[in-house]
This record gives sequence, structure tokens and C-alpha cells, in this order.
Amino acid sequence: MHTVSRRRFLQISSATVGLAETGAAAGHLAGQAAAAGEAERGVRKVPTFCDICFWKCGAIAHVKDGKLWKIEGNPEDPLCRGRLCPRGTGGVGAHFDPDRLRTPLVRRQKRGQEVWTAVTWDEALNVVAEKMNAIKAKYGPEAVALFSHGIGGTFLKHTLKAFGSPNTAAPSFAQCRGPRDVGFALTFGEEVGSPERTDIRNSRCLVLIGSHLGENMHNTQAQEFAEAVGAGASIIVVDPRFSVAASKAKHYLPIRPGTDLALLLAWINVIVAEGLYDKDYVAAHGFGFEAFAAEVLPFTPEWAYPETGIEPGVIRETAREMARYRPATLIHPGRHATWYGDDAQRSRAIALLNALMGSWGRKGGFWSPASMDVPGYPYPAYPVPAKGKVDNPGRKYPFATEAITTGIRHATLTGEPYPIKGWMVYATNLIHAMPNEAETIEAIKALDLLVVVDVIPSEIAGWADVVLPETTYLERYDELNVEVFREPFVALRQPVVLAPHDQKPNWWIARKLAEKLGLGAYYPWQTIEEYLEHRLKRAGMSLAQLREKGIVRGARRPVFYEEGLAPEFPTPSGKIEFYSAQLRDSGFDAVPKYKRPAAPPEGSFRLLFGRSPVHSFSRTQSNPILHEMMAENEVWVNASIAARLGLASGSVVRLRNQDGVRSDPVKVKATERIRPDCVYMVHGFGHTSRHLTRAFRKGASDAQLITRYETDPLMGGTGMNVNFVSIEAEA
Ligand code: SF4
Repeated sequence: MHTVSRRRFLQISSATVGLAETGAAAGHLAGQAAAAGEAERGVRKVPTFCDICFWKCGAIAHVKDGKLWKIEGNPEDPLCRGRLCPRGTGGVGAHFDPDRLRTPLVRRQKRGQEVWTAVTWDEALNVVAEKMNAIKAKYGPEAVALFSHGIGGTFLKHTLKAFGSPNTAAPSFAQCRGPRDVGFALTFGEEVGSPERTDIRNSRCLVLIGSHLGENMHNTQAQEFAEAVGAGASIIVVDPRFSVAASKAKHYLPIRPGTDLALLLAWINVIVAEGLYDKDYVAAHGFGFEAFAAEVLPFTPEWAYPETGIEPGVIRETAREMARYRPATLIHPGRHATWYGDDAQRSRAIALLNALMGSWGRKGGFWSPASMDVPGYPYPAYPVPAKGKVDNPGRKYPFATEAITTGIRHATLTGEPYPIKGWMVYATNLIHAMPNEAETIEAIKALDLLVVVDVIPSEIAGWADVVLPETTYLERYDELNVEVFREPFVALRQPVVLAPHDQKPNWWIARKLAEKLGLGAYYPWQTIEEYLEHRLKRAGMSLAQLREKGIVRGARRPVFYEEGLAPEFPTPSGKIEFYSAQLRDSGFDAVPKYKRPAAPPEGSFRLLFGRSPVHSFSRTQSNPILHEMMAENEVWVNASIAARLGLASGSVVRLRNQDGVRSDPVKVKATERIRPDCVYMVHGFGHTSRHLTRAFRKGASDAQLITRYETDPLMGGTGMNVNFVSIEAEA
């Protein structure tokens, strides 16, 4: 074993992955040609599903003369219908990215210096298992937590549960869609889910509140949005920024940031006061409507005007527009809903507005999800943890339905309600994903073990004690995607090409670690193919079938009430809860109430952030193809403000937040397309990992500037649009 810097290490060529060990039917691939001692010739097409984001679009990878060539959409796939988004098309770049992690690494230097020793898989996993066992002996198995993102984390979760820890979390709950799902579940008894159960393509009136579809590239939704626009749907967009979606809108409402709940209440007020709601639907399915109607009485458009900046006439006109098309009126629930800390209640107001339209369960509104029954592979029961989950002690956030990442971080920092001493992090760059980077780093310093499993050397990998390089999705099998969608289907991810270095698939890593922890009984299958075959067979399918087609679709069933689906609302009342007794009984507002947000201090602007159609989170900026499409972000500044500050498009500035944190230099986009009281950036740029050579210090990081957050009292989500920045011209 020798000590090398990561940069030096990346230059070391590694042995090719053994086909048998990784269960590589990638082998299937070039394997046959290789076995015959011949170079692979011609074009081979391999169906799989994309992993550049979590949407899991069906894809057909093309291999030309043995080399990965291009990726297209799988026409059989109901999610993408044969068309990938720009990021998915650029997925080839993930395989070829020269910056990707190549071999297991163990830290011997100070944490955060990005210097490790290259080791074998056996050595790396021995270190992880020894440290996990040491933590278990001293603090109990619950003291190891897993942060994970996407379907690839399935097997690591399995290993951690077998180890005896209940602490697994994903930033997608407390930092993203959690408040939305809680707000809808409090109203209809069910979450919006992922993919969202929105019937955009059939909606005749689509309302987007801060949801920049098209830039926020969820393939199915972007395609359906285009269809709805093409079919003449009335589009209403509410956003402080004139987004791409706003350019398609009949009504664009440039709302004052933080006042969305006031607008929603005013819309509800108009619809109730003017009797524009679906009376039959509300009478049949609603609970507590009278009390609700009384509560929204004061929130007139005139009341909302000074809050939102939206004129009463516009509020009335847009409310009537929604009512005109009901029930095919869809007030989109959004996805990244963690804005101001009142997010579950704001989402509940969106749910209530949809309830008034009668759009839940109706065509052009929300479908009911369908999925195929694919039994799991049997394994022994998990041990029952001696301690409960660490993230939400005493159910402080009573309506949290998933683990709260920041709760685990808090326990790591304080040792309360019990210590967390080990983090395993899979495919999520926590430094960019969680608010208050300094707090995350402090928590890491309190750990005995940080293991990062990833494809690229992200910022969180820079702090790891052990880095385990994963194969890209094009080089591995994964857990089956038993999708929950408007029609049921099962999809297979399978290896297309071999991993270029000593990377391993997540399932292999999770299994080997389990074996080293003495938990091999939890992996009774011999190969991943056997595991997949077993599951598929019990559902009446076969691995060969999936390998060939990538996707097997199930029988369609009614997904709307119009099609015969029976309405069901698993709330305490069994109905749509216009008035929520469970919220009232927990000390919260039974009907959402608006609280005015803090205004930007003099000379400051509210920092808003969002998505680009060519990047996913902070995970793709080093992908050579996607980098070429968008190498850095810009800060959007209102043109009049820019002029006042002596700035123009292309001027370089730094942003300084209310706590004195200063961003990297970033170019200005001076534009009329944003209100003067806020600035906007695409999330995920401004990388500080030296080993992301292409993305290093390109653009600025919004995450660095998000030092403050407001915690949602219902479910523990972190509202992050509460930071303010001033603009400093760079000399
Ligand atoms: S939306 Fe784009 S990046 Fe995400 S899975 Fe689909 S094709 Fe891939």
C-alpha cells in the first residue's frame, strides 16, 4: 500500500473489473466477442433506464464497435415515450468522464484534504466493516446512518437495516418534496408521489406556482406540458422570474417572493365567495367545508394585493379562469417545495384549491397511481433496533412521513437523542444538498466514520474516510424499477459496457460489506441475475424478457373516477379534509394561514435558485457533454438594478450573504425577466472539489450562500429561500 494524492491516483491505470464477480451481463455484451478472442464489431443496442436524474426514463444505449456510442429513449417506456431529455442524452459522458472515481480510497491524512491511499476493495471494505463494528460495540448499530438518493441506494439500505440501524434518510424529503407530500396527504390522505400523479397532458388549465417546467426537466412532465400548450390549455404561471414556462402563459403573475400562500388564499376566497367550486364533488367528498369557508372569508384579493403585488382584478380573473375549466384544472403541486418554512401549509393550500376544482382523481387533474405486483426476494427478518429513529425525537415534527436529514445531522452534532458516529453517503452530495454547509462539515468532524459511495469525487467525497467508486448506470444492474405511474410497468437497468476501472455496482458493494459484517444471510442469492430472475419469475416475467425489451408493461386499469375508479380518501374523516382536525389537535392551523416573510434588508436581494435542463443537482457539472452545454451558472439580476450598480450582462460579481459568506465570482445576467427584489441562480455550480477538474470553481454555489433556513414545524423541511445577498462588483 502506498500513499498517493487523488490526482496522482487518478493517473494510475487499474485492472478491468472481473466479469464473473460483478455479475456482468455487460458481458453479455462485449463478453461474447471477447470470449471468442475477437473485437466487438457493429452496433449493439441495449435497453436500460437512465440515472442522470431520478426520473428513471427508459433508454436504449447504442454500442458501436465495442464502444459506448449514444443513448436514445425507449419507445416502449411510458415515462419518456422514446425521447430523453438533454441530460439523459448526455448520459454517455458519465461513462467517459475522466474525473470519475476509479478505485477504492482510504484517508490517512486530515479530513477534507482530498488526499487518500489507494487500496483494494477488500482492504477498503475491511476498514468500513471494522469501524462500523467498533461504532456498534460502543454506541449501538443505530449510531450508523445512511444518506442516499435514488434507486441505487436500495441494497445499501438493506445492509444497514440488517446491521440494525433504522436511520436512513434522503435529502429528497426534508430538502425537496417533503412539504408538498405532507400537505397533500393531510388533505387527500395520499401523497403526490414521484413521478407526480399529474395529468398535465389532459389539463385544460394548468397553474404553475414557482414550478419552472422545461427548465426543471422531468421528462414526462416537460413533454406533457408541451402537449397541453399545443392543445391550447390556459397556462397561469406565478413566479418572481419570467421562466421559460412563463413565456407560454396566458397569465403571468410576477409575485413578490414569499407571498404565495397569500395568493392561494385569495384565489380560494374568490372561488368560495363566488360559488365557483365543484359543488357536487365537494358535497360528496369534502369534510369541514363550512368551517373552511368561514376561515378563508377575510382573505380577499384586496387583502392579498399589498402582500403579493398582484392586483385584485388579476387575482379574480385568474381564479375564474381556473373555475372555467374545472375539473380539468391542475394547480401543479411542484416538486422542490422547501422555500420559506411554511411549506407544508402552502402545499396544503394548493391541495385545497385543487379540491375546490374537483381535480383530484379526475382527468386533467390527478391520476391514481398503478403499479405491478413484483414480489421481493425472501431474506431473514431485520433485527429490531433497540432505539427508535434519531431524526425526529418525540415526534417534534408530528407530520414527518420520512426521515429528516437535518435531524440526523443535528443528532451527530449534539449526541441527542443519541450519538450518531458513522455516516454512509450514497449518490448524494450533502455539501450542496443540505443547507448550512458549515453545520454539515462540523457534523462530519464529529464522526468516527464517513463512507462515500459515488461515481464522481464530489465535495462530500472530499471529506470521506473511505471512498468507494461506483460504476455508472451504464455499467451495472440495479434494483428493478417497479414504477408507480398512470399505467403499471417494470423496467430493468442492465450493464451496457464494462466499467473502465476498478468501480463496482452498488449491489456488489452492499453485499460484500454485509458479508464482512457477518450479515451474508441477508443476501441469499448467488448472483444479481439470480436475484432479478427470482423476483421477475414470481411476477410471471423473466430476466431474458426484460433484457431484450427493457420494459414490460402491465394491464391498464382505471386511474380516474370517470373511468370507474372508486374515490378513496385515507384521511381520518375518510374524506377530503377542507378543515383538518388532526392539524388543529396538534396545535397547528386547521386551515392554512399566511405569515408575511421578512423583506430583504436595504441593498440586499432575496436569493432564489432553480434548475437547468442540462444538469441534475450538483452531480453532472463534470460530465464532459453536459459541461459543454452549460459550463457555469449566472446570477440573474433585474436590468434596472444592474444599471444602477453599473453592471451589465457578463459583468463579474460576487454575492455576499447576510452572514458574510462570499461566493466565487459569477457572471451577471442583466434581465427584465426577474423582479428587482431578488436574484436567481441555477443550483449545483461553484464546485470546490479539486478533482472535479472541469467543474472546479466554475460559477457560484447557491448552497454556500444558504447559511440560514426556516424549519417547517409540521414536518421538519428546511425552507431555504430565506437568505439575502448583496452584489459586489469584481475588480
Ligand atoms: S428526465 Fe432526463 S435525466 Fe432524468 S431520467 Fe429522464 S432522460 Fe434521464
